[in-house]
Amino acid sequence: MRVLLIEDDPAVAAGIVDALTGAGHEVRHEGTGSAGLEAARAAAPDLVVLDLGLPDMDGTDVCRGIRTFSTVPIIVVSARSEEIDRVLALEMGADDFLVKPFGIRELIARIRAVTRRTSTDAAPAAAIERRLGPLVIDLRGQRITLDGEPVHLTTTEYQILMYLSEEPGAVRPRSDILRSVWKTEWFGATKTLDAHVAALRKKLGSPDWIESVRAVGFRFEIPA
Ligand code: CA
Repeated sequence: MRVLLIEDDPAVAAGIVDALTGAGHEVRHEGTGSAGLEAARAAAPDLVVLDLGLPDMDGTDVCRGIRTFSTVPIIVVSARSEEIDRVLALEMGADDFLVKPFGIRELIARIRAVTRRTSTDAAPAAAIERRLGPLVIDLRGQRITLDGEPVHLTTTEYQILMYLSEEPGAVRPRSDILRSVWKTEWFGATKTLDAHVAALRKKLGSPDWIESVRAVGFRFEIPA
């Protein structure tokens, strides 16, 4: 897999490059946000690992910038562990978030999880679209329209929406969503799920599409 690493700390970058290369990935490293954005556009990587603390621009702006032209999976890494960073990064369209210092094996596991989610997403051949009131999910093209207007979702948001909307009105427990979308129940994921749901609601223009069911999970409903 071709991985673009955007990280300004040479020592951290060297460790990640070595480990990912050793795991069979082809890694391109950029040390600034602007060079990273340029590389994301020009090289069309399969995955981006993005440090939030960059010398020339904020990593969340880099993330948002990449999202204007690409749906490539983005794993954000940050020395800052404040919850706001995590929420912000996910709202900016990142697929996962890792706090420094992290073990390289954890990074590799996250890369595997993100790419498994994005690559095993083949839609069933029989169903071509899912119509949910004004919302239409084109399963083949993985495109969403709302009242005929395209809605741009990240891969993770799309996966969550697909899972929740399988059965409108049914409550989906958090653990089931994590298992279906993340293929895991790692401890940090439930906050991550909340951030993705918040982003989804915003993109769908109303919180009414996804109702929180206290202490259980979420319920997809077509708003009245
Ligand atoms: Ca940094």
